[in-house]
Amino acid sequence: MAADLATLAGPYAARLRRADALAEPGCPGEARLQALWQSDRRPKDLALPDGTPVEVLDPGRWNHAPGPDFRDALLSFGGALRRGDVELHLRPADWDAHGHAADPAYAGVILHVTWAPDPAAKTLPPAVPTLALRPFAEREGPFDFAALPQPEPGPRPCRARLEAEPGARDRLLSAAGAHRLLAKSRAFAQALQAGDPFQAFYEGLLGAMGYGRNAAPFRRLAREVPFARLESLPTLRRFAVLAGVGGLLKEDRRALWDLWWESGFPPPLRPYEWDFRAMRPQNHPFRRLAGAVGLLHHAGALLEAPLDTLPRALSEASCHLCEALSLKGAPIGAARANAIVTNLFVPYRIALGTLGAERLRALPGEDVSQPMREVWHRLSGALDGLPKDGLRQQGLLQIYADFCANPALSCACCPLAEG
Ligand code: SF4
Repeated sequence: MAADLATLAGPYAARLRRADALAEPGCPGEARLQALWQSDRRPKDLALPDGTPVEVLDPGRWNHAPGPDFRDALLSFGGALRRGDVELHLRPADWDAHGHAADPAYAGVILHVTWAPDPAAKTLPPAVPTLALRPFAEREGPFDFAALPQPEPGPRPCRARLEAEPGARDRLLSAAGAHRLLAKSRAFAQALQAGDPFQAFYEGLLGAMGYGRNAAPFRRLAREVPFARLESLPTLRRFAVLAGVGGLLKEDRRALWDLWWESGFPPPLRPYEWDFRAMRPQNHPFRRLAGAVGLLHHAGALLEAPLDTLPRALSEASCHLCEALSLKGAPIGAARANAIVTNLFVPYRIALGTLGAERLRALPGEDVSQPMREVWHRLSGALDGLPKDGLRQQGLLQIYADFCANPALSCACCPLAEG
């Protein structure tokens, strides 16, 4: 099952590997290379590898639509004038990687301009020469791309590429979302190989109850009271043990206190460092722990439930101990339930092999966050219409982390903008 997810995520992972390769000092990015080709800072006294001088009489019209990067350039090759298209890449082999040889739109290319001189392209037509700019630009030292005029303000380069191909934006977001969920599933896959996957799920579940600031004490609790020692206990006693060991029982909870002591789980040597500052009563670890124990009680059914109804089922299951503990309202509300589905149930089910790519399309969305909004606006130019499904929302978050908020990359150097 993870194989079909890996297939879905594959195109994104390929561009991410490219981002890793580009995140190096002096990376020009294709957009900057195109800006250089068009500008008067283009190196002079150019020549092909066989020594034929190349003179750029007209670099051509910069093409922001699909097809070669510059149209109708006028070039002189050793005095012989030719008019035609110019395609630019960082490396010669990008011609092969982009599949231009099979695309008739590139039949009019008369020059392949690259930054690096190698590795060689294998599918470039023999009549089209390659001109590498780097050796000429760096004749007198490293070339400073940052000194070039900044690209015109306007739509981000990824947007133009994605709008040129029907469905490309949705495919990218789904691939990025699948990549993110697969990455989250890896810790569970390792636990699966180590032979104790449910303990990893249980730790993840308690950690998810901590809302960040109490995640560490919740995870510590899951490690100090492993699920294997809780498994045979009735649900209320499970809760009493966890609350007792975690230091969450007060004098007025005498019955729970007794259940804990009878179970023989000692108090910890070191107290738990719960953070109760400015905490709303509904977020108190006592309530969250009750919710988690409810989910553990129903875990079997929840791990089989359809994704579109799972958040609601989670919220209901979290109430399992509400009556016994006199708790009002579900300990896990709708927003938290969505996050738990995406960050825990889905990755765990992917690792188990019980959730394939097709079913991920029914993943419910979460509350829209600022990074989601920002990336959506960059990719689409729109403020509305943000995807409502969880898979594409995860894709927005992944693109934000890997590309838009990556300090080692810029739009001018972004593989998501390359054709
Ligand atoms: S960094 Fe972000 S906004 Fe810029 S081109 Fe890449 S994906 Fe688009």
